[in-house]
Amino acid sequence: MAPALKPSQPASAAPSAVLLFDIDGVIRDVGGSYRRAIAETVQHYSGAHPDPGAIDALKAEGCWNNDWEASLELLRRRGTALPALEALVEVFNGFYFGGDPWGDPAAWQGFIGQEPLLVERPFFDGLTGAGVAWGFVSGAEPPSARYVLEQRLGLTAPPLIAMGDAPDKPDPTGLLRLAQALAGPLGPQAPPVAYLGDTVADVLTVQRARQQHPDQRFWSLAVAPPHFHLPGRERERAHYEAQLLAAGADAVIPATAQVSDHLPWMESGQIAQASKPTSSRPTMADS
Ligand SMILES: [Mg+2]
Repeated sequence: MAPALKPSQPASAAPSAVLLFDIDGVIRDVGGSYRRAIAETVQHYSGAHPDPGAIDALKAEGCWNNDWEASLELLRRRGTALPALEALVEVFNGFYFGGDPWGDPAAWQGFIGQEPLLVERPFFDGLTGAGVAWGFVSGAEPPSARYVLEQRLGLTAPPLIAMGDAPDKPDPTGLLRLAQALAGPLGPQAPPVAYLGDTVADVLTVQRARQQHPDQRFWSLAVAPPHFHLPGRERERAHYEAQLLAAGADAVIPATAQVSDHLPWMESGQIAQASKPTSSRPTMADS
């Protein structure tokens, strides 16, 4: 077990539920940072910005969680001569960090400085107070993930699986490892484990976790990333949320902070009946 996986609950208190979060699009708005770095990287190599819809469509395919590989794939689909991944990562990180990712965050000049938070520290204190153990499973690079959790949100040693700690989502290895660190051995006796993400890959990660532990209660919760909540994007948001539900999300929630509303349902096992859609349209999105 990696030493970073400290439970957020005392060992003596079994949590009533385990709530795991994706970070990008769920804890912070990366529309002006990671997504912008994808667009700038594609422009750097191809000479033209990708349409934001092209990035959304790629993410909806469920297998492009890694933003470096997503950038490469956008270039491939444009017919651009492909750079080596290592070179692309350097260009991407120049936009995103604007400095040494492993150096002092105070020296970073890149887009990472423009990431609005979607929840604040008291949100996590409230979960802890409710007996919920929480942690983060993200494909973000460790310096970026730690920066938002520790420096921006002020969390101390948050339980975290980041890029390189486990295979990329939708492989469920990281999710399962952190769930077990917080819940104990998985199975019918274990507390329910929920994962809140914003992409099809996040939903598929829960599906695959279920396949490995069919007797464990898992919930896949989803939220559309912030750029879909802008005025005038209601139709696109509904389409995106329908894709999350079609991929198997148990519920789409309107905002990360409202995930607490679902805790009683998760614990009683009624969330599926309460919110599982009977059609391809999202039913929880505007509740
Ligand atoms: Mg995300």
